[in-house]
Amino acid sequence: MSEQQTTAAQSWPEGVIARYLTVGGGFVDLTHQMNVLTPPEPYATLAACTGCPSTSEHNHHRMVWGLTSQYEKHLPELADSDAREWAQTHAEKCRALPRPEAQQ
Ligand SMILES: [Zn+2]
Repeated sequence: MSEQQTTAAQSWPEGVIARYLTVGGGFVDLTHQMNVLTPPEPYATLAACTGCPSTSEHNHHRMVWGLTSQYEKHLPELADSDAREWAQTHAEKCRALPRPEAQQ
């Protein structure tokens, strides 16, 4: 059994699909917003900064014709790429420091 725990990055919060380091030392985390279906499906990708209150929700839908009606199909790849773009841009300019967890 290996006791090596050489993880370079600290563990990510559950559900985080991508993480960007900001110039201020915070993070921009990308998570999927899930709907209430069973099983839940992502309906949007949320980018949220840990250093400042900035968040940005991205979603893409395409109308799809079913047998009896049309419905909106979510396109997670496009939503993800939009969210990544926002996160990248925000990370490059955000200088807000994350608030230390100990002093709420
Ligand atoms: Zn920020």
